[in-house]
Amino acid sequence: MFQQDLLTWYQHNKRELPFRKNRNAYQIWISEIMAQQTRIEAMLPYFERFIEELPDMKSLAEVSDEKLNKLWQGLGYYSRARNLKKCAQVCMAQYDGKLPPTKEQLKKLPGIGPYTAGAIASIAYGQRVSCVDGNVIRVFSRIYDCHEDMARSKGRKYIEKKVDESLPEAAYIHDYNQALMELGALICVPSGPRCDRCPIRAYCKGYANQTCDQLPVLIKKKNRRIEKKTIYIWTDGTRIRLVKRSEKGLLYQLYGFDEQQPEHSIRRVELTPYTHIFSHVEWHMKAFLVYTDQADENFHTFSDIQKKYAVPSAFQPFLTEAETLIQGKENRPNWT
Ligand code: SF4
Repeated sequence: MFQQDLLTWYQHNKRELPFRKNRNAYQIWISEIMAQQTRIEAMLPYFERFIEELPDMKSLAEVSDEKLNKLWQGLGYYSRARNLKKCAQVCMAQYDGKLPPTKEQLKKLPGIGPYTAGAIASIAYGQRVSCVDGNVIRVFSRIYDCHEDMARSKGRKYIEKKVDESLPEAAYIHDYNQALMELGALICVPSGPRCDRCPIRAYCKGYANQTCDQLPVLIKKKNRRIEKKTIYIWTDGTRIRLVKRSEKGLLYQLYGFDEQQPEHSIRRVELTPYTHIFSHVEWHMKAFLVYTDQADENFHTFSDIQKKYAVPSAFQPFLTEAETLIQGKENRPNWT
């Protein structure tokens, strides 16, 4: 009855999404990776652009890093894009340009964890396996009124076992797994679950015990490390200098700005400070726009940067402010 009530609700309430139109494993995989850190509605334009530019495994395996980063710009966590390409290269070499069908095979590929492997195996290939993401953990924590810490593996394993026990036969697995995720996204939301509209309220112990708002239990890890940075955006008055970041560390291989002044700095203006938050680190940044006569081949116009270079969101506020100052008619820089 639980399965039936959930599936009936899903049939009538699911969102129409481009990757739900067919069971294309490639598109399901791309959508799942993009959705890991981004709301579905926000990622849709990125997804559509990505599929238009890189419609299949071969095009992804052969894309340049520059183009890939540009397509990913705005989504953050660029390691996901790099792993997509690595994974596509493995699939071209080992699986005839396709994603393999089983969860176990999929989990061995770059960037594919147990959740994504389960999603591809069940949604694209109809394998009777679970895919447990944050939405499903929240729904099942509440259904079982489970107060284990879901930041720890003991709590997650308990929920995974309960989800595994709940799986329907293979013919329904495609819809069932998506229905659970959709319920978590639309009804059993993190704060203020809409229990009055929930199709599985009758089976929910959290609802019966009025504990839904306390679940899932997630005990926070220790605070993020704080790093202070000073950024210098070199300009020759119309163009600015971009620097490709090193091979290691946060945002590697993407484009940013210098962390030292040019030898010949003529004048400079301080930009608005900005703090960018990563999962484990916070960058507390000050920045200066520095006018120099030391232009080199790394100086680019803003329209070139917009078209060709992936500047991560950590630097976007500085890029925008620098553009306004250099190109704006009313906001002339207050040089010192
Ligand atoms: S009844 Fe409420 S808490 Fe329980 S699954 Fe439904 S929305 Fe979530």
